[in-house]
Amino acid sequence: MSNKQTMSFQTEIKQLLHLMIHSLYSNKEIFLRELVSNASDAIDKFRFEQINKPELNKGDELAITISFDKDAKTITIKDNGIGMTYDEVIQNIGTIAKSGTKEFLDKLSGDAKKDANLIGQFGVGFYSAFIVADKVTLVTLKAGEVTSKATEWVSDGSGEFSIETTDKLDGNGTTITLHLKEDQDDLLSDWSLRSIIRKYSDHINYPIKMQKMPEHDKDGKEIISTEMETVNKANALWTRSKNDVTEEEYKEFYKHVSHDFNEPAKWIHSRVEGAQEYTMLLYMPAKAPFDLYDANRKYGIKLYIKRVFIMDDAEKLLPNYLRFIRGVIDSQDLPLNVSREILQSSKDIDAIRSGCTKKVLSMIEDIANNDKDKYSELWNEFGPVIKEGIIEDHTNKERVAKLCRFASTANDSDAKTVSLDDYIARMKDGQDKIYYITADSYNAAKNSPHLEIFKQKDIEVLLLTDRVDEWVVSHLFDYEKKSLVSVAKGGLDLGNLDDKKPTEEEKKEQEEKAKPILEKIKTALDGKVKEVVITNRLVDSPACLVTDGYGMSIHMERLLRQAGQ
Ligand code: ADP
Ligand code: MG
Repeated sequence: MSNKQTMSFQTEIKQLLHLMIHSLYSNKEIFLRELVSNASDAIDKFRFEQINKPELNKGDELAITISFDKDAKTITIKDNGIGMTYDEVIQNIGTIAKSGTKEFLDKLSGDAKKDANLIGQFGVGFYSAFIVADKVTLVTLKAGEVTSKATEWVSDGSGEFSIETTDKLDGNGTTITLHLKEDQDDLLSDWSLRSIIRKYSDHINYPIKMQKMPEHDKDGKEIISTEMETVNKANALWTRSKNDVTEEEYKEFYKHVSHDFNEPAKWIHSRVEGAQEYTMLLYMPAKAPFDLYDANRKYGIKLYIKRVFIMDDAEKLLPNYLRFIRGVIDSQDLPLNVSREILQSSKDIDAIRSGCTKKVLSMIEDIANNDKDKYSELWNEFGPVIKEGIIEDHTNKERVAKLCRFASTANDSDAKTVSLDDYIARMKDGQDKIYYITADSYNAAKNSPHLEIFKQKDIEVLLLTDRVDEWVVSHLFDYEKKSLVSVAKGGLDLGNLDDKKPTEEEKKEQEEKAKPILEKIKTALDGKVKEVVITNRLVDSPACLVTDGYGMSIHMERLLRQAGQ
């Protein structure tokens, strides 16, 4: 009896497949890069599994094999990696677990070029096979399983797939066969497959093998060889010296480790020697991933130990506020059997983290100092996350603060381009504080009555509108010895800037005069306000709400209320 079952793709996948095929078509050869990248990940995982289960090692060379059949019009990509169980196939190939999938699909416009960028950010991976194939067969056997426990998955990419248990006699791993669409014959050649592999997958650590090209004897007859040859460089890119790696290779390697289709903004590649010896190749992406704010997000830094893959998403290797950085850290000193638990409280890891953090901050500073336009784009993508560093990273607080960019009353736009250093350079004679306001939006900040006196005196105020800003300023009391002061908090003291400061006597007189009206307002607002006082902070508006100097700001109170506190 056949155990074959037919299942439907998740609705999101159907939509995604359709759009993807349409918008990535002009770049169709990336399907091979994606499948090879998956094969390489699977071998990495298999090799890692062998550390604790040496019996899995049958002595086979770990490799990816690519072949094609001109008559059948198929391309086959085979790996002897970790493989998948039946359930894992359904889980990994039939569903998109990523958060933000729906929001992502809503953003797609139907304009192929724009969508291609978005889809790139989201990552399509395995499904890119359907750009060139109208039927895909995947046969996989999980390492350690008996040969009769393999799984076969078949789909034409239009909405359903079939899945059944089958035999796989050639061992653990995954074999994917693409039945090419009518017009894809150009892919069915030694030359074109080799050139695609060299272009996109040269950096893959494992050998990518193809059958040797046919040779011709002296009569011009073709001699077909069954011998295999390796077509990529097949060494770990990060172990090569910088001079031996081209820009293109760095970029393709980024796409492999990050699962991002876009090019990176910048990278650092260096070998660190000393108490801890390690190599880092870390990238600054150009675009934020869709799950930047999702606590369950995957993929950060890959940890290797002596070139053996240990884990993805090694979150302890960089602080949380640098969680968008992608790449590889390869340690010479950590034990191969290191676990996530050990990583949590390891002095060696602390040393690697602080070293890498410094390097990454230097890389970001380098962009900030030398390419303002690029930095401004990056700040829009990652700024709110980088700012968390002021809260999280005591050691590097000043450096992170220096990287921050804000909107400001000095500009007539909501662009976040003003640094604290810019602000200080423009301070008025006698000004010794950095003034800011926090609000939900640029417009709310800009039109706040609290700004009136500052406008009148032509004093710049920073407009802080990111959700995290309130927490940031509660951790950043001063910068370059200038205290940060909210314009919306009680007893505003303009210090030397207040040219019309009333004397103590004048103040008393004003208060006496206003007393009856203040009492009246207070009774009218009983229970709603703590105090009603006169102020010199307003110019045009008759009244405004402030919080007391030490209490929470109104914005913070609102945030906490939103969070259900
Ligand atoms: P990603 O690689 O970004 O996770 P993909 O769509 O490329 O996304 O692949 C989805 C998942 O399917 C992978 O995370 C992996 O778990 C599984 N997978 C894909 N190809 C293979 C393979 N050759 N061997 C084992 N698992 C695979
Ligand atoms: Mg992939």
